[in-house]
Amino acid sequence: MIVRGTNLLKLTAKDADFQLKHSRWSGPSHFNTREFRCKHCGELMLHYDLVLALEKLRAEIGKPLVITSGYRCKVHNKAIGGVKNSGHTKGYAADIALPYGFTHKLFREIIWNTRKITGIKRVGSYPDKLFCHATSE
Ligand SMILES: [Zn+2]
Repeated sequence: MIVRGTNLLKLTAKDADFQLKHSRWSGPSHFNTREFRCKHCGELMLHYDLVLALEKLRAEIGKPLVITSGYRCKVHNKAIGGVKNSGHTKGYAADIALPYGFTHKLFREIIWNTRKITGIKRVGSYPDKLFCHATSE
């Protein structure tokens, strides 16, 4: 099932998963609610604008993007040492695994340099990590 949208999506742990498609995205849908759920409780808050930005980034890079952390409820965010008021707790941040063959520096540079196309607003810099943190707000 594909569910189109433009706004903030909220799911409980019991709600079924589905493919996400921003209403303004005409390409294929590559992201599923499953990937963005809180790893601790299964709940989800997700802005469709983040999904749109990730589809555009995927198209720019030409490789699948794996989300290693999407939504985090406040309990989980605190437990893993996330910053207070992190975009992860509001549904507009994702940690994206470094695509095969990409260093952190290169991946970060591409995300930053394509931000006017993708709509990504901020990119975190954690050079020792195997992901890049990106936000749509
Ligand atoms: Zn949780």
